[in-house]
Amino acid sequence: MELLKQKIKEVGIVVNDDVIKLDAILNHAVDPVLTTAMGKEFARLYREENVTKIMTIESSGIPIAFAAAQELNVPMVFARRKKTLNTDTETYCERVPSFTKGMVTDIMVSREFLSETDRVVLIDDFIANGDAARGLIRIIRRSGATLLGLGIAVEKSFQAGGRTIRESGIRVESLVKIASLSGGSIEFE
Ligand code: 5GP
Repeated sequence: MELLKQKIKEVGIVVNDDVIKLDAILNHAVDPVLTTAMGKEFARLYREENVTKIMTIESSGIPIAFAAAQELNVPMVFARRKKTLNTDTETYCERVPSFTKGMVTDIMVSREFLSETDRVVLIDDFIANGDAARGLIRIIRRSGATLLGLGIAVEKSFQAGGRTIRESGIRVESLVKIASLSGGSIEFE
């Protein structure tokens, strides 16, 4: 997606060989025009699939997931990272390593918002090692819902997440692929 590529070139800050900061558009501030365009693109890619639900993980996936859900006219549900007072019988819970925080977090989705008749597209801001996506994929599988595929804004293709999830037979659509961040420069695929 050319617009996203341009924005990444404008505002992206390479932190090290593995991490790029995109606070100005994805992780702290939100660019509504860009976010709407990303939502439209995900909607275009999955429009023929009879999507019933868009899912993401809080917090940075939420604006993009919302934009896609609005475009497809379906609800959006985000997995929460917080501990709640809900019991295990009311929620699906999975433990995932956090790429940026370097620790483990629990993500949870209330059973109320995910059923076996759902046809789900999972949307997120980044894919690195794929742990966050795999956690939510496990939740979707446990619910009996159908996973149609992933929609990722930025895939860092030098990390294994996107590739390994594709190899497991799941459709992964990325708007932009970054092949390398070595030496402080952003190389797109
Ligand atoms: P994964 O679970 O695929 O290893 O990492 C995915 C999550 O880590 C994303 O939801 C995103 O929040 C965060 N993340 C991974 N790589 C980057 C990065 O280079 N920059 C930023 N800002 N977040 C990242």
